[in-house]
Amino acid sequence: MIKVDDTCIGCGACVAIDGEHFEFDERGLSTPISQEVTDSVKEAADACPVGAIKVEETTNNNENSEENAE
Ligand code: SF4
Repeated sequence: MIKVDDTCIGCGACVAIDGEHFEFDERGLSTPISQEVTDSVKEAADACPVGAIKVEETTNNNENSEENAE
């Protein structure tokens, strides 16, 4: 699972690092365009200055995964 939360400041680092997974939306903020977790997605998440990118590796196990209720 790839998620960009609302702390994104639109710096463009993630889009520059991994344009296959992130693009700017109409507000000029990053939005994930793929849910495939790759090394470059993790790299983009690490590079985000505000930690707005959440990456969760999903497995195919039938475990009860808890939703990220906020
Ligand atoms: S690196 Fe972080 S702050 Fe910059 S555009 Fe991407 S999600 Fe937004």
